[in-house]
Amino acid sequence: MTSDTSDCIFCKVVKKEIAAKIIYENDDFIAFDDIKPVSPFHALVIPKKHYKNLLEVDDVNLLGKLMTSVQEVAKKNNLSDGFRTAINTGDNGGQTVYHLHVHILGGRFHKWPPG
Ligand code: AMP
Ligand code: ZN
Repeated sequence: MTSDTSDCIFCKVVKKEIAAKIIYENDDFIAFDDIKPVSPFHALVIPKKHYKNLLEVDDVNLLGKLMTSVQEVAKKNNLSDGFRTAINTGDNGGQTVYHLHVHILGGRFHKWPPG
């Protein structure tokens, strides 16, 4: 876990210092609409606690709960036709915001590989 999180935009979303369209919340996670959606449905699920990315997570329990939250967001938003989840990690993974997040993309067909 990174100690200085004051510049993290997703920590600011958690603290409600930056506006976001929050579509789901529980004790440990929030989900909100991506500001630049690439699919008709594009939300991000993030832990309220700051982790830089997947490599930084030392809590297996949190990872399980994260996936359960993803599942709940998908179910609540009628994504039963299918959806894409993505966790971009580090520069080669295309990560641009360094606070762990799961993309949920739905509402269209998503080809593989993503490029
Ligand atoms: P990644 O490239 O995996 O790190 O994804 C970061 C995502 O965060 C991108 O899809 C951005 O469009 C999204 N994003 C950046 N800032 C905000 C914000 N303030 N509110 C919602 N989504 C954001
Ligand atoms: Zn953060």
